[in-house]
Amino acid sequence: MNLLKKIILFLLLLAAMVSAVFFYSIHTFVDIGKYKNWEVSPTANPSKSAVTVQFVGVSTVVISDDSTTLMTDGFFTRPAPIDMVFGVVEPDTADIRWGLERLVLKKLDAVFVTHSHFDHAIDAPEVVRLTGAKMYGSESTANIGRGWNLPESQIQLFENKQPIKIGQFTVTPILSRHFEFANPELRKRTLGGKQEITEPLVPPVPALDYKMGGAYTLFIEHPKGSFVLQSSAGWLEGSLKGIQTDIVLMGIGGLGAQTPEYHRSYFKEIVDELQAKQVYLVHWDAFVSSIRKPIRGPMLLADWIAGKTLKSFEATEREAAKREGLKVNLLPQWEKVVLFE
Ligand SMILES: [Zn+2]
Repeated sequence: MNLLKKIILFLLLLAAMVSAVFFYSIHTFVDIGKYKNWEVSPTANPSKSAVTVQFVGVSTVVISDDSTTLMTDGFFTRPAPIDMVFGVVEPDTADIRWGLERLVLKKLDAVFVTHSHFDHAIDAPEVVRLTGAKMYGSESTANIGRGWNLPESQIQLFENKQPIKIGQFTVTPILSRHFEFANPELRKRTLGGKQEITEPLVPPVPALDYKMGGAYTLFIEHPKGSFVLQSSAGWLEGSLKGIQTDIVLMGIGGLGAQTPEYHRSYFKEIVDELQAKQVYLVHWDAFVSSIRKPIRGPMLLADWIAGKTLKSFEATEREAAKREGLKVNLLPQWEKVVLFE
């Protein structure tokens, strides 16, 4: 065999190996079975007056006191991995409808979008269109709504630290910071430059066209109790000063790829600042594949690039162990759990 043939054969073998690894990495998902014991059981028959939470996945949750129902993010579409990496994404309207039915909502009053990356904001306009709810978020989120032809009457902009009253709930958006991706290339592409959507965004578009648009903490108060949702594992130093809640719904996406110092600061700024006693983990799961399949850890490729999911759980375990009495929970998917009786 001459040298040229050897080189060609070598390159073919290399290409085959690279594609094998790639296909393995988009069809294999991280197993978080080790932490299943953190999962709380659904409440069998929640009383009508209770405040309940239902977890959909990523940082989409439904909060209800029976007369008023709120949703965060409203993300149901789970794009194919290949489309997310190389192609374009768009709301999967059939899956959104399926997800809303799966939740068995009497009605929906409002959707609060925590930031405009696609795994938070892509479906919000369709959710409010189908339910008649109102969509709240940043100017970037508003432009996602406009791109979906949502009327202005169903779009309301966040004003930093301005409370929004809906039924017995008061929701205060507080400008925070997005998770600081440890991977420099990913950090540049998702957080670098001007992270705003300045024109109506008409899907299908590449996933990265859903620019961040400002990441918000949501402080949700109700006469029965209050809690905070921190969807992205970042913080703005001191932004939660003066707020006390027993419960925080805490995003841990990507956390494991960051340094122990980052973990310490995140827990200090979110858990300690709020004096939280209970943490419910969110944004630990896959955002590709299908919402109709049971929730599972991220696909391996995302985990390699951004996530280190098991390390996120380990970091959480380590930080929780330092805080006496702090309980870490995972929510069951879809079913109601009582937050406040
Ligand atoms: Zn994000």
